Amino acid sequence: MSAVRKGTLIAGDGIGPEVVAATVRVIEATGVAIKWETQMAGAMAIAIEGTPLPQKTLDSIRKTGLALKGPTTTPIGGGHASINVALRKTLDLYANVRPIKTLPGVKSRYDHVDLVIVRENTEDLYAGVEHYIDPRRTAAESIAIITKFGSERCIVYAFEYARKHGRKKITLVHKANILKMSNGLFLDTGKEVAKRYPDIEFNDMIVDATAMKLVISPERFDMIVTMNLFGDILSDLTAGLVGGLGVAPAANIGDGGCAMFEAVHGTANDIAGRGIANPTGLMLSAAMLLDHVEQREPAERLRKGIWAALANAETRTGDLGGKTNTAGYTDAVIRLMR
Ligand code: NAD
Repeated sequence: MSAVRKGTLIAGDGIGPEVVAATVRVIEATGVAIKWETQMAGAMAIAIEGTPLPQKTLDSIRKTGLALKGPTTTPIGGGHASINVALRKTLDLYANVRPIKTLPGVKSRYDHVDLVIVRENTEDLYAGVEHYIDPRRTAAESIAIITKFGSERCIVYAFEYARKHGRKKITLVHKANILKMSNGLFLDTGKEVAKRYPDIEFNDMIVDATAMKLVISPERFDMIVTMNLFGDILSDLTAGLVGGLGVAPAANIGDGGCAMFEAVHGTANDIAGRGIANPTGLMLSAAMLLDHVEQREPAERLRKGIWAALANAETRTGDLGGKTNTAGYTDAVIRLMR
C-alpha cells in the first residue's frame, strides 16, 4: 500500500453517486490509498447548501489539489452557470486532456484509434466576453481572446504530456489562415515551443481539414493541441469515433497543483438510481488521476481490468450490450486487474 494522499470527492447528480462509488472501489483495489474529503456541487448542493458550487468545495480542491468528480446538472438557457466552467475558471484548470482509444466490446466504426486531445480550457470564445450591439438585440458580438501566456502554458503541457506518456507527434489545430491574429498567435507560440522539444514531431493543420482527416483516418493522429472552441468540438467528434461519450475520460489540469478528473458524460437522469450506469468513463478518468499522482503501475493495472471486463458481454454493462449492472462490472474490473 502506497502513502496516503488526500483528494476531494464530488458525487454530483443523477448517476454521479453510483459511478463515483464504483470508481472509489476500484481505486482502493489498486492499493493506492487516497483519503477522500467528500464535498458537494450541482443540484444536490443547491438543495442542501443553497448554491451549486459551495465555497468549501473550492477550498477543499485548492487544499488537496486533486478532485474526482461525478457529473453535475447544468440548466439550459437559464438557471445557474455550468459548474464545470466555473470550476475550470476559478481553479484555473487550463488544460483539458481527453485520451480517445478504441475499447474492446464497445461498437465503433474504427479499430485502432489511440490519440489524445489537449484543449486550452480558459480562453478563446469561452472567455465569456459577449454583448448585444444594439438595444433591440438584433446583433451580438462574442470576442475570442487568445494570449501568448495562455497558449504557451497549454502547449507546453501538451509537449510535457507527450514526453511522459511516450507520444511521438503533436498536431496543432487552428484556423490561422482566416483568424490571422488570434489563431496566428496560438500557431506561432506552438512553433516556438516545439523548438524546445526536438524529440517530438510537430505539425499544424487547419481545423476543417483536421475534421475530415479524423473521419477518414483517425489512426494517423497521435496528439492534438488546440484552442478552446475547436477542442470542444473535436474532442466530441473523436469520442464518437470510438463509440460515443459514455466511456470517455477527461482531466482538467492547472498549474497551482490542482487537477480535476471526471467522465465526459452527463447525469443520465433517465437511468439514475437503478444501479445500471456504466462507470467506465469515470474509472478511466481515475486511471488518469493515478498517472497524475505518479502511480503509473496501479493506473495500468486498473486499465487492464477495465479492458478485460469490457471485452466480455457477461461482465459489460447493458448500455454496451452486456449482461451485468454497475456492481457486477465493478466486481469484474477488480477481479481482472489483479
Ligand atoms: P447524458 O450524458 O447525461 O445522457 C445522454 C444519454 O446517455 C442518456 O440516455 C443516458 O442514459 C446515457 N448515458 C450517459 N452516461 C451513461 C453511463 N455512464 N452509463 C449508461 N448510460 C449513460 O447527457 P444529457 O442528457 O445531455 O445531460 C444530462 C445532464 O448532465 C444535463 O444537466 C447536462 O448539463 C449535464 N452534464 C454534465 C456534465 C458534467 O458534469 N461533466 C457533462 C455533460 C452533461
